[in-house]
Amino acid sequence: MKALGPIPAGFAAIDGELAIDGHKVSDLVERAHETPLFVYSRRMLMEKVAQLRAAMPQRLGIHFAMKANPFAPVLDVMSNLVDGFDVASAGEMTMAFAAGVSPQKISFAGPGKRDSELAAAIHHGVTLNLESEGEAERALAIAAREGRTARLAIRVNPDFDLKGSGMKMGGGAKPFGVDAERVPALARRIIEAAAEWHGLHIFAGSQALSADAIIETQGQTLDLAARLATEIGAPLPHCNLGGGIGIPYFPGDEPVDVAAIGAALEARFAALPDVLRDTRFNIELGRYLVGEAGIYLTRIVDRKISHGEVFLVTDGGLHHQLAASGNFGTVVRRNYPVAIATRFGAPVEEEASVVGCLCTPMDKLAEKAGFPRADVGDLVAIFCAGAYGASASPAAFLGHGPAHEMLV
Ligand SMILES: *Cc1c(COP(=O)(O)O)cnc(C)c1O
Repeated sequence: MKALGPIPAGFAAIDGELAIDGHKVSDLVERAHETPLFVYSRRMLMEKVAQLRAAMPQRLGIHFAMKANPFAPVLDVMSNLVDGFDVASAGEMTMAFAAGVSPQKISFAGPGKRDSELAAAIHHGVTLNLESEGEAERALAIAAREGRTARLAIRVNPDFDLKGSGMKMGGGAKPFGVDAERVPALARRIIEAAAEWHGLHIFAGSQALSADAIIETQGQTLDLAARLATEIGAPLPHCNLGGGIGIPYFPGDEPVDVAAIGAALEARFAALPDVLRDTRFNIELGRYLVGEAGIYLTRIVDRKISHGEVFLVTDGGLHHQLAASGNFGTVVRRNYPVAIATRFGAPVEEEASVVGCLCTPMDKLAEKAGFPRADVGDLVAIFCAGAYGASASPAAFLGHGPAHEMLV
C-alpha cells in the first residue's frame, strides 16, 4: 500500500462527509449542479495570510503571485489581504485590475514580454521586472514614444539557488532575469534614461519546505542586494526577496516553520547596511497562500477490478489537476492527499487506485492507497488543489471540458 500525502488542517466531517467551512461536499456539488468542482475557502485564505503576517516582520510586504490561482473570486479576496500582486502576462494584469488591484501594487515579471505587454504596463504605471537588457531597451523606447515614465525594476538571476526547492529558478544559465554581474550597468542605464528606478527582484526558487534553506537564501539575497546597490551607487527603493515557501503535498512532508523564517528576517532587518536602510522589502508567494485553501471534488463513475487491483474511475482527472497526477514539475510520482469525501474519516478497508476519465495511463489521482470502501456515486476529494489546479492543467485535452470553480 502506498501512503497518501497529509491532509491540510481545517477540514472537518459532518454526518460522515467532508465539510468545508460548515458546507458538506454533497451540498456544494448540488449547488454547482455537476462534478468535477474546485472549492476554495475564503476563511482559509484569510487565516493563511493573517498567520503569515503575524510571523513576518512588519516591514515585509506580502505579494501574491497570481499564477497560482487566477479565479476571479479568489483574486477579489486576495486583493484585500496582500500588499501587491505579481503578474506574468498582460492577461493576468487585466485580471488583477478587474479584482480592483491598483497598478501601483502590481509588478510584472516573466520572460518574453511582448511590446504590447510592455506598453500596457507602462501605460498603467505597473512595475516591470525586466528580464534582460533587450527588454529594458524596448521598455525605454516605448516609454519615450508614449511620453511616459516607466517604472522599472531588474529581475536578477542570482548566483545561488534555493536548496531543496521543487523548482529552481536561479543559479547558472537561466532564461529568467539578468545575470547578477551585469545588473549594475543595466541599473545605471535605467537611472540615466530618467525612468523611475524601482529596484531589484531576486527569485531563487519555489516549493521549499526547509526553513533553514529559505533563511539561508534570504540571507544570500540580502547580501546580493546590498552588493548590487553599492555597485549601482544609488539607493534601492524596493527589493523583492522572492518566495519559495512550500506546502506539504506528499507523505512525510512537514509544514514550513514560518516563525523561524520571520525571526531570522527580523534579525537581518535590524542590521541592514546603509544602502538598504530605506529599502522596502517584500516576498512573493503563490501556493503557500492559496494551495491548501482549495479542494478538487470528483465523482466515482465506475468501480472495477483488474488483476486483483481495485480502480475507482472518476469523472475528473489530470485535465483539471495535472499536479496530482505527478506530471507537473515532479520527477517521481507520489500520492497527493486524497480522500473519499462522502466517507470522510471512515477506517481504511481496502487498497485502491483513483484514476481519471482520460484515456492515458498518466491519469492517476492516487495510486494503490488505503481507502474506506467506495462505490459508484461517491465523491473523491483531492486536497492542496488551491494552487496550480484549474489554470495549470490541460482542460481541453480529450474534450471533457473545464471544471467548475466555487468560492465559499
Ligand atoms: C511562480 C512564481 C512564484 C510563485 O511560486 P509559488 O511556488 O507558487 O510560491 C513567485 N514568483 C515568481 C517569479 C514565480 O515565477
